Formats: sequence, structure tokens, C-alpha cells
Amino acid sequence: MDFRAFPIEIRGMKQIMSVAFVALLAACQTAPVQTPADVVPVVAAAAPEPTAGQQWLFGSAEASVVMRQAWATIADYVEAKAAEAPTYGVVLTPDSSPVQPGFLACEGKPLAAVFDADETLIWNLGSMAAFGRMGIGFDPAIWDEWEKTGAGKAVAIPGALEALARIREAGVTVIVNTNRAAENAAGTEATLKAAGIGEFSHGSTLFLRGDAPDGSGKDGRRMMISENYCVIALVGDQLGDIADPFNEKTLSVMDRKVLTEAPAITDLWGNGWFVLPNPVYGPSIRGDFDDIYPEATHWVPSAASELPAAN
Ligand SMILES: [Mg+2]
Repeated sequence: MDFRAFPIEIRGMKQIMSVAFVALLAACQTAPVQTPADVVPVVAAAAPEPTAGQQWLFGSAEASVVMRQAWATIADYVEAKAAEAPTYGVVLTPDSSPVQPGFLACEGKPLAAVFDADETLIWNLGSMAAFGRMGIGFDPAIWDEWEKTGAGKAVAIPGALEALARIREAGVTVIVNTNRAAENAAGTEATLKAAGIGEFSHGSTLFLRGDAPDGSGKDGRRMMISENYCVIALVGDQLGDIADPFNEKTLSVMDRKVLTEAPAITDLWGNGWFVLPNPVYGPSIRGDFDDIYPEATHWVPSAASELPAAN
């Protein structure tokens, strides 16, 4: 998981902070000693709530259906592609880009499909709920503990197990390329196994942050995987699971979207490159009003002046 992309604030934290602020104000006042009857019962700290994104992704029937639809499409594609005996895979060559792509040749290598782990194969329900109940968005030390000990508390994403069975049946090796830490390989292997995703082995079917010199970039590991396999599918919840140029930090919200529409690669979406929804965290969660809403769509209701100002 790329924790740098985690939202730093959730609704529960806001509630706790507002209560704490009231308490701080009260403490600063030089008021006479109060009797219990004088004490205004300040609002008790409300239990943090899941964010809207968490409610949708981890709780909703709609998300479950979307995931099952997506996984069925991935399995359909892999089965059809494997039957074609392809000449080229879908990993970009190191000297190319989404605008001017080149793809690694299969060279007779066995076929593989490469998947991110977090919020792609598994939902990290145990850590998500723990962070939420603590009123924090993310903490790297707690996440590190989760990588080591979370087995059994993460679940397979709806539709994944059925699709993975079909992909393996088609003779395609399932490989995981995740930004979980290489030092925690044993914990991640145990987590994937406990969720029913399968048996993975670090360095052959499981690739982790630290395996290649490019840090949380995944292109280096994609090249390592491609030494032994022809990768016919890349699947993730973030564009870095497809190719690192999509995660270039200087790209604006709009530029990033435009890059996915580059004519040379646009047909790959749903046809070798697959992205699953994650409205909870990651590089997709950013942008202000101007970033998100095109100026041509600006509209002001007649009653706008009567509404309280946004804060
Ligand atoms: Mg992920």
C-alpha cells in the first residue's frame, strides 16, 4: 500500500478535534468554580464513523456487484487471450510511455497475470476498521504491524476467487506485485493464503516493495516478472499498478486523466489493463473544485445567496 496517498483526515477525527477544541476553550477561561449543575454537558465524543468511501467500497451491495462484474470481465479476457497464444504482453518497455508505448514480446515464455494486492485482491477490513475506530486515517507503524499479523482479517474481494480459478484453469500464472514491504513477506503470504487467494512465494510469484531499486514504483518489479513470464494482464486499484508514468507527481488531476486517454493505449483499458474502484485512498483521492469541475459546467442556483457559506 502506498501510505503517502492516504487521506489524513476522516470524519471521526473532525468530531474528536471539535470536541477537544471546545474543551480547550473551556479550560482557558477564568471562570468561577462550577458545581456539577452548572456544567453544561458538552457533547460526548461521538464514535468515529466510516468515511463515505469506506461505506461504499466495503459495505455496499453496489460495490460488491461492481467488483463481481469487473472480475468476470478480467477472467473472460484472460481466457480469450490465453487461447490466442499472444506474441506481445501488456507491460510497457522501459524506454516507452503511455503516449508512445512499446510492449515486451512474449518470446515463448509462459503466460502470467499480475495483480496488486491491497484493495485489488483483498479488502483490508481489519486495519481499515482499526484506523477508523482510532479516528486516524493511516499510521505507518500500525500498517507495518498489519502486514505482519493481519492474516485472517483481510477478505477476498467479491468475484476474485471465482475469476482466479478460471485464470489458473486457463494455464495462466497468478502473480502479485504489491507495495507491501519485502521484510514482511511471510505476513503477506499468510494474509493472501488465509483470504483464499492462493499460495505465493516471495521472488517467484510475489513481488514486494524493496525487491527492485525503484522504491514504491512497480515498473522495476514488472521487468523482473517479465524475465520469466509474458504478462497478459495487469490489474490494480491505482494506475501505478499498470505503469509508473501514470503516477508522475507533477501531473495535475486533469493531466493524469488525459494521459489515460492517449490514443496509443486507450484500447488497453478492459483489454489487458484493468482498474478496480477504490474511493478510500490513493492518488485518485485529490483535487479541489477547480480541478474536478470544468469551468464550462459552472452553474449557480438562484437561491445560492440564501444558503450559508460553505466552510
Ligand atoms: Mg492497491
